[in-house]
Amino acid sequence: MQAQAVLKEKFGYDYFREGQADVIESLLAGTNVLAIMPTGGGKSLCYQIPALMLPGLTLVVSPLISLMKDQVDALNENGIPATFINSTLTQGEVQERFNQAARGEVKLLYVSPERLDSDYFLADLAELTIDLIAVDEAHCISQWGHDFRPSYLRLTDTIQSMRQRPTIVALTATATSQVAADIMQRLNIQHEVKTGFSRQNIAFQVVKNQNSDRYLIDYLKVNKQKSGIIYASTRKEVERLTKLIEKAKLGVTMYHGGLNEMVRRQNQEDFLYDRKPIMVATNAFGMGIDKSNVRFVVHAQIPGSLEAYYQEAGRAGRDGLPSEAILLFKVNDVQIQHFFIDQSEMDEAHKQQEYAKLQEITQYANTQQCLQQYIVNYFDDDCEACGRCSNCLDTREEQDITIDVQKVLSCVKRMDERFGKVLVAQVLTGSKNQKIMQFRFDELPTYGLMRGDSQKEISGLIDYLVASGYLQASGGQYPVLQITAAGVAVLRGQAKVTRKMAVKVQKTLPEDN
Ligand code: ADP
Repeated sequence: MQAQAVLKEKFGYDYFREGQADVIESLLAGTNVLAIMPTGGGKSLCYQIPALMLPGLTLVVSPLISLMKDQVDALNENGIPATFINSTLTQGEVQERFNQAARGEVKLLYVSPERLDSDYFLADLAELTIDLIAVDEAHCISQWGHDFRPSYLRLTDTIQSMRQRPTIVALTATATSQVAADIMQRLNIQHEVKTGFSRQNIAFQVVKNQNSDRYLIDYLKVNKQKSGIIYASTRKEVERLTKLIEKAKLGVTMYHGGLNEMVRRQNQEDFLYDRKPIMVATNAFGMGIDKSNVRFVVHAQIPGSLEAYYQEAGRAGRDGLPSEAILLFKVNDVQIQHFFIDQSEMDEAHKQQEYAKLQEITQYANTQQCLQQYIVNYFDDDCEACGRCSNCLDTREEQDITIDVQKVLSCVKRMDERFGKVLVAQVLTGSKNQKIMQFRFDELPTYGLMRGDSQKEISGLIDYLVASGYLQASGGQYPVLQITAAGVAVLRGQAKVTRKMAVKVQKTLPEDN
């Protein structure tokens, strides 16, 4: 039977989605593939169809135990023999399932990556005839990715130790070119299939400098009965927001690593089956969650990276209907994340990497570019401006801010491009702090040049200049500002800079006398 016929007969679909046919045909021809497709893009079929067409077994490595059962049940319902092995089973059950697989009674065997840590398991695995290995959430294999899992590293050795080399398909929704290269190298993959990254039905929004609790409650009230996920950065914050939403008499449940297994499962099901439309959770919730009618994903705090953001936000609208992804951005949260990284046990190189990721998500929050386009560009891809995001719909008037920008840039230059945002803002506002005196920055011609503005305003302006590529902020915990080529052009008066700003109320009427 041809792949197209299997699609129709076993899954009831008439057409392949973008990329699926390419992945499936390559795999059937024995070519290893990396498939990068957005959430909801149809990655599962890319290995399920070959699994049905190949004579031997397909091993699926998937990190979410709670989901395995659902996926396997769904396959069984379609008459596809599949089973899973994970830590929820007894030793006897595991053995029985292995035997089933060895007898060729199942086509797909799902396992969690942690299983690969067990030598016994690997020895049993070596007894099976495995034609295809599907590595789901494959970005977890890369240290550059946002969700590195050491167990995934065992995959490379496991595959190499197998007698007849199975074909490999790695699947992920989020991979920068660096992560993609890493996955390909580790799993010996030469062929990449990447489909459009943009999510046509999601309107991205950044909400800045607002009382975010009030915004959240208002938003939820306006969207009553709609299903959505609210991500918060800590367990404590999850609990706080859940209480707040309960108080507003809205149906809400929560999920975080501190709740016991039974409560988590119960809460997850309350959400999945629409008994409670709102889920407040840490990032422990959601990987692989297949709830199609999630209408909104709100981040109450910024996540650690733009990759994590896109993956979490991407859980909205898997059914293709209009949905929203909202980031509630507060400068304070960036500082808190900074602190977490600083206090963590990570080695220095890893810390630097995390600071850089934090910088990237901060830039996302400050850009004026189409948000969808910004994200897609981040993943080294391109798309048209979406016309739906909060930047595309921003009707505030564009103002020429070239002169202020020149002041900031020339101050950065006079400080030899060796300092960060805080000190630059202090010099521009004419602060008398000790460091400024020590470096004699009070003698610079740019000292106090923007005395009328607050340090917060100047910080905001600097963020904007970094986000729009006039300045570059690099180097770990205290990023140093440097002027880019675009910035040099502004300094030389060869280019103008504009910014959409809320119109400030100014005193225009003459004084009474
Ligand atoms: P992903 O793993 O990429 O997030 P899934 O594999 O879960 O996405 O697929 C998302 C949804 O799209 C599922 O409900 C699936 O049945 C459906 N789907 C996948 N391929 C097709 C297709 N060719 N035609 C119609 N629906 C499809």
